[in-house]
Amino acid sequence: MKTQTGTCAGDADTRRVLIAGGGYAGTSCAVALARMLRGREDVEILLVEPDPCQQALSELDLVAVGPPRPQFCELWHPTVFRDLPVTVCYNRVDHIDPARHIVRIGDGEEVPYWRLVVATGAIPFIPDVPGLIDNAVTMWSVEDAQELQQRVDRAFKAAARIASAEERRRILSFAVIGGGATGVEIMGTMSQMLPRRMEEHGLLPEELSVMLIEGRAQILYDLPDKQRDRAVQRLEKMGAEVITGEMVEWVDDRSIRLSSGRTVDASVVVFCGGAHADPHATGWDFETDNAGRIIVGEELKAPGFDDVYVIGDVSSFRNPKTNNVLPMLAQMAIQEGPHTAKNIYAEIEGQPTSSFTPHMRGEFVSVGPRWGVGWMYSFNLTGFPAIVMKRITYVKYWFQVGGISLAWKRTWEMLSMGW
Ligand SMILES: Cc1cc2nc3c(=O)[nH]c(=O)nc-3n(C[C@H](O)[C@H](O)[C@H](O)COP(=O)(O)OP(=O)(O)OC[C@H]3O[C@@H](n4cnc5c(N)ncnc54)[C@H](O)[C@@H]3O)c2cc1C
Repeated sequence: MKTQTGTCAGDADTRRVLIAGGGYAGTSCAVALARMLRGREDVEILLVEPDPCQQALSELDLVAVGPPRPQFCELWHPTVFRDLPVTVCYNRVDHIDPARHIVRIGDGEEVPYWRLVVATGAIPFIPDVPGLIDNAVTMWSVEDAQELQQRVDRAFKAAARIASAEERRRILSFAVIGGGATGVEIMGTMSQMLPRRMEEHGLLPEELSVMLIEGRAQILYDLPDKQRDRAVQRLEKMGAEVITGEMVEWVDDRSIRLSSGRTVDASVVVFCGGAHADPHATGWDFETDNAGRIIVGEELKAPGFDDVYVIGDVSSFRNPKTNNVLPMLAQMAIQEGPHTAKNIYAEIEGQPTSSFTPHMRGEFVSVGPRWGVGWMYSFNLTGFPAIVMKRITYVKYWFQVGGISLAWKRTWEMLSMGW
């Protein structure tokens, strides 16, 4: 691996494959292509990514409120690319000019490409609800998990100083807005971990209030009915209140107002209300769908631009089997990355490229650290087997990008943290 922090320009004679974004899609693409190209000097792989660590977002439920260190979810690019012919330029792609086959990076430098892979992901979607952006923490990075841990710690310290039980209960009220997979996972972790942590701090767990608020009639709307009901039962068993069919009207630093007129106490609010494709994508001369994702054809190329692939959350690929756009999921991104690598390699070799066929083999949601719900092929899985399957998806990804040594190291770390 080579690192270029300032300039991204390389050798003008080599064919440059420029990958914008080093998340699940970009990293898995760079690794797969680098393994195929090892030993060749005529093709350069340049990854442009501002963050030296990949944020393994699907692992955030492990660390949201401690005790494991949130940095567990950071996969360092220098480790992944250590022995691979990938040059990493720690910068942002500012603009893409597909007509000129040029990318402009953060400091204004223009970098030409032979093939471009756009993999810039998504950002949290935050609706225009008064007070939401100022008072809620989103869950999109290790920094977000650290911020949530700090807010929880501050609430514990404030509660410990207060004599009035009523006021303590108010301060120990935590809410998660959004009953999709992320919201349920964070609520599950909070419901399970916070009583334990309160006991350790000498606080009374019965003074804790945790609630999940969802605007739709049900949580986990893309899971089978039975699995949703099981998740609700599990959350309620762990002491969480699950409020459905209620929109949030406003949020302040101590409470949330719901559409029914009810106001609930919430000194710490987490917002998990969904994702929005990288907003810059709409300004890059590619066709985008209503959600702002770049439309791609069957080979994951942007129509009209034969040298541009778009993969991961920022791309809008219609599954030919269902005619639905693929969901924003890591399991899609890590199939699209290696497929694109194979197609680029085929183009280098002058071979035909192939269409992408997505495989949705299952979906698992943790509800607390050691229990989950989900499905695999045509089976529903509940409880410990579901959580084992979810953790196996992490191990598979570590193996995919880092081989046996990374998979072993991180699995061991995960198990030794008690998960
Ligand atoms: C809390 C949480 C839990 C999740 N759990 C699951 C799960 O259990 N299973 C599952 O399948 N999916 C899960 N997801 C969804 C999954 O994380 C995303 O689908 C996945 O991250 C998409 O991969 P990506 O590579 O497209 O984007 P990302 O992983 O977001 O990576 C995008 C990268 O692009 C970089 N970037 C952005 N803009 C630029 C730019 N202008 N120039 C250069 N680089 C740029 C960013 O820094 C980032 O590193 C979860 C998401 C969240 C937030």
